[in-house]
Amino acid sequence: MRSVQSRSPQQPDDVVVTVPAAGMGGVVAAVERARLAQREWGGCRAGERAAALTEAAGRVHAARDELIALAVREVGKPITEATAEVDRTVAILRYYAQQVFDPAGAVHEPTGTGLLYTRRRPLGVAGLITPWNFPFAIPLWKAAPALAAGNAVVLKPAPQATACAMRLFELLAGPLPDGLVEVVPGHASEGQVLTSTTDVVSFTGSVQAGTVVAARAVTTGVPVQAEMGGHNPAIVLPDADLDRAARHIVAAAYGYAGQKCTATRRIIGVGAASEPLREALLMAIDELPCGDPGDPKTMCGPVIDDAARGRMLAAAREARQSGGTVLAGGTASDNLVAPILVGGLSEGHALARHETFGPFCLLQSAADVPTAVAMANSGAYGLVSAVYTTDLGHALRFVEELGTGLVKVNAPSTGVDFHLPFGGVKASSYGPPEQGKAAMDFYTTVRTVTVQPG
Ligand code: NAD
Repeated sequence: MRSVQSRSPQQPDDVVVTVPAAGMGGVVAAVERARLAQREWGGCRAGERAAALTEAAGRVHAARDELIALAVREVGKPITEATAEVDRTVAILRYYAQQVFDPAGAVHEPTGTGLLYTRRRPLGVAGLITPWNFPFAIPLWKAAPALAAGNAVVLKPAPQATACAMRLFELLAGPLPDGLVEVVPGHASEGQVLTSTTDVVSFTGSVQAGTVVAARAVTTGVPVQAEMGGHNPAIVLPDADLDRAARHIVAAAYGYAGQKCTATRRIIGVGAASEPLREALLMAIDELPCGDPGDPKTMCGPVIDDAARGRMLAAAREARQSGGTVLAGGTASDNLVAPILVGGLSEGHALARHETFGPFCLLQSAADVPTAVAMANSGAYGLVSAVYTTDLGHALRFVEELGTGLVKVNAPSTGVDFHLPFGGVKASSYGPPEQGKAAMDFYTTVRTVTVQPG
């Protein structure tokens, strides 16, 4: 029987969990259980759904310390960030528990007599496929709106975050009907089965996997959203507070070892900013607390596994061989990879165009603002961009012209507000955005009702 195993990134001989993979039969059975439970849940009144989700939030909150420790151990998330993630997870659940009271439709003027209105309805069973880097927040920011809207959910977590997902869903399940929230541990094949057996699919992960998932869901004919990678630029103008910008950017590029879809991957210094920015970045990298993820001061911990460490070191070697300069990092002690900053690579180089998911960032320069905009918009991705300037005219120009789903002005590329829509453009995203009220729309269908006098 195939199994799923996760190991602690900082201590790879520490096996966190080993469980049998669900297999095709396991996924199909979980979806069937969820489908039965959804009939009961979909018929619950809004107040009952709100009460159950609020109780679930209380259970997650009560397990706060345990969950924080689990995220540190299983995915190597620095404890201060892990704490913020668990707290956000609870806040998201509480937010969606209240969304059930939002209007579920609208009354319209009929063309003739009678009543004309719309009403949102749940879709049925939501299939959720998630990565390992936000082991609680991402499964929850998909599950909470799906449940609030009256759906059941079946989650296929990343193998590396299996224990986090199983514990989170165990806590959620308590106040909910049996079978309403299911976890199917497994690999890509379990994800594929989920994609063709559920009524709506929400994926987060790499472009490679997301493209396959989206294509399959479209073939099956179910709504799908796929949130994928980014190659996120941070542009720094000469008028910016360069030390502050450098500290922000270094935290956004290397916090949690750069293992966030919103991490800064390319730093573009404009004109006279380039040289002092380089110095400020090197100083900020030098001061970045790296090491044990259990230490509250640590911002950059280990990468997820040996393979990720190998990819980072190979990228640094490749940069050197291609004429780039490794300005910082390029070494590793176990899975702790020293933050890598590379300058001098050509814009067309593969490392300048594709996501390297780890503590690897490029330093580039642009002669002027139009060149910086063109560089930022080049490439296949369009998730988030950051711009540092004190000139309002420049800031507004960037907001208009940058081709990303999120634009941050004088703020790090990382960090997302869960009550607003979240999603990118181009290869970064497919389908409607996640989070906020947009998520309630995604997990529902609209029924238009015409009532005429009998
Ligand atoms: P991944 O694509 O390897 O895996 C994500 C999930 O998809 C896992 O559960 C995996 O088992 C499953 N999967 C893989 N192949 C599949 C297939 N063919 N069919 C169905 N399911 C499949 O990604 P990862 O390594 O877990 O996470 C890192 C990636 O996630 C990065 O590219 C990062 O940018 C991205 N990410 C994006 C966002 C966002 O919101 N845009 C957030 C976090 C992470």
